[in-house]
Amino acid sequence: MLVEVAVAAAVRGTFTYRVPPHLIRQVELGRRVAVPFGKSRRATGYVVGFPAAAPAGVELRELVELLDDAPLFTPKLIELLRWAEDYYLVPPGELLRAALPPGLNARAGQQAPTRRGVEFAAPAPGAQEALSTLSRRARAQHGVLEYLLARGRIPVEELRTAFPKGRAALSTLATRGLVLLDTESIRPSGGLLPASAQAPVLTSAQADALAEVNAALGSFTPFLLHGVTGSGKTEVYLQAIAHARTTGKGALVLVPEIALTPQLAGRFRARFGDTVALLHSGLSASERHAEWLRLRNGEASICVGVRSAIFAPVQDLGIVVVDEEHDGSFKQEDGPGYHARDLAVVRAKLESAVCILGSATPSLESLENARSGRYRKLSLPARIDDRPMPAVEILDLSRGNRGAPLPGLLSPQLLDALAATLAANQQSILFLNRRGYQTLILCRDCGREEQCPACSVSLTFHARRNVLVCHYCGHKEPMTPVCPACGGPRGGVGVGTEQVEEAVRAALPSARVDRLDRDSVSGADETAAVLARFARRETDVLIGTQMVTKGHDFPGVTLVGVILADTALALPDFRAAERTFQLLAQVAGRAGRGAEPGRVLVQTFHPDSPAVACAVAHDYGRFTEQELDRRRAYGYPPFGRLLAVRITGSDQGARACAEALGDAARPVLGRDVAMLGPAPAVIERLRGQSRWHILFKASHPSSLGRIHAALAQIARRPPGHASIRFDRDPNSML
Ligand code: ADP
Ligand code: ZN
Repeated sequence: MLVEVAVAAAVRGTFTYRVPPHLIRQVELGRRVAVPFGKSRRATGYVVGFPAAAPAGVELRELVELLDDAPLFTPKLIELLRWAEDYYLVPPGELLRAALPPGLNARAGQQAPTRRGVEFAAPAPGAQEALSTLSRRARAQHGVLEYLLARGRIPVEELRTAFPKGRAALSTLATRGLVLLDTESIRPSGGLLPASAQAPVLTSAQADALAEVNAALGSFTPFLLHGVTGSGKTEVYLQAIAHARTTGKGALVLVPEIALTPQLAGRFRARFGDTVALLHSGLSASERHAEWLRLRNGEASICVGVRSAIFAPVQDLGIVVVDEEHDGSFKQEDGPGYHARDLAVVRAKLESAVCILGSATPSLESLENARSGRYRKLSLPARIDDRPMPAVEILDLSRGNRGAPLPGLLSPQLLDALAATLAANQQSILFLNRRGYQTLILCRDCGREEQCPACSVSLTFHARRNVLVCHYCGHKEPMTPVCPACGGPRGGVGVGTEQVEEAVRAALPSARVDRLDRDSVSGADETAAVLARFARRETDVLIGTQMVTKGHDFPGVTLVGVILADTALALPDFRAAERTFQLLAQVAGRAGRGAEPGRVLVQTFHPDSPAVACAVAHDYGRFTEQELDRRRAYGYPPFGRLLAVRITGSDQGARACAEALGDAARPVLGRDVAMLGPAPAVIERLRGQSRWHILFKASHPSSLGRIHAALAQIARRPPGHASIRFDRDPNSML
């Protein structure tokens, strides 16, 4: 008897082993095994098949041992992983390893903890007053209590998601009587929970969408659910999953980032109790492992998780949901590069499940699939309660403001709007997708631009810490006012969030200002604390990067200012316009979610660019119409398929390798594949390594398989000791 084993290492292909007689009865698909590999006596691998015959000329070795007491992967998951290995051109063992929770090796065989009921936390009466008496040093307790005061009684799961390190703080607060904890038990029938989690009566648009999904349960049916922000998409997912559960089926829900949207975790837990398992990076390795085990044992049947949860062992999968399906975070960028949104559709097909891709701004790929009839389209055209979409106005920075520079890029109109909002006791959000104080430091005499010594990118000046930082590799150096080359005076240009904050504080001294970006907060706990203060209206103006575009629903926000809409437009990437449109639509959706109508001001140097103009008009249809025409004309996705080959190494090694790959590909291109490059990447150097790219553009996916086959030989032994990465359906063009 023979087994095909994917070895957990960065090697391409699988290996065949003989099964010793005493193991023949136990060996199963998906089992973790120990095998001899190369010179080492033992490596870990996974059984992925049972070949009838061994490859010719290979001396077979024997399986050493079976690990764990049951398979780690269901046969369907093995099928999915093999599909992904083939399509994404990644080593199978690496993919299998990425599919397992971290720390599995150390903990194999451990029992999952059983839970009873759903825990809720609420601020105790008097907690508001007690907040000021808490020691300033008890920052974690402050954060947790602020959050609870902002949110009221919520499932503890939401709190855990928002404050991964806040466990001790919560129990201290409970002991001191500032927080009340209680547990709602789950009904034995597994039905819905009591009042706190009752489902609302659906609007007719929601009911129509739900009816279509429910009717399709049991067969592979992909849906695109297009609904504006706040139109009730999540409620449709919840009720579709509730229906699937009544037929005994499980569900998988993928979301871009759980830490920024803790309410979502709480909503699922409140509705479905313990049958929900959460998988995200805010959990410790042992918690993730425990959640994973609960799914594998069938104790939990609904999984809510981020990208890697696409491989979660949900049993008898009936429905797969991808929320915010357009989000770039579903693409794994290093290691095995898969796209979880696309794999969600493949997994649904393998498991005969329904698949819902939901978004307010669907990706052009999904839109085209809906237009061509591959996906069925569902629409939620209006916000719940028919709340109007906010009015969006453009402030054209290229006109009228010439001459005196705007401090922190704040135009007089935006400053007036901020002051008026403050005077009305309402809140504002300012969004700019660039961190730091100034994004470029240059010498006024010799013109030298300060670059990272290891990367071909400019260093960003961070004023508070007085350092220059590389945002790609983390290199730091002290900022000095003189040029290291000629001794001339240096100055900075390019506004970042830190400078916006300074300018707002100077212009509105009475405003309470806070900033949310990766410099001002470290980790989910601090993020949650900043958002909680904002939700409690202790902050008037919140400034930040895209971290402020997601997350909570803030009813007090009536003004959203986009400091510069153009930052993403200028990137050399065919998706630049699409990303800009999505980002603007997202951030505009933050305004006017309460009783007061919202106002959005968008500052831009390119008011006529389609992405900006259409986002301002809330016109998804017109934007996508134009953008699809452009993509069609240039053969870009969704019309053409892309394969990027990324080469890194020494200056000479990377070049030699890239040229060898180019030479190997040229004869097999044919008329259906275009090759761009080989050429140095947009970011030519990263972490001291030289980078080259080749981009292949084909009208059919199968043509790219032919190209890969021609290059695979070289990839096995890359010239110049370079390293080669195949990136199918690349997300980043940098
Ligand atoms: P989306 O996912 O499209 O942003 P949600 O499902 O989160 O929208 O709904 C937005 C808000 O409206 C939420 O607070 C939700 O609880 C509420 N909501 C959703 N559907 C209904 C409904 N049919 N009736 C009343 N409130 C609803
Ligand atoms: Zn660097």
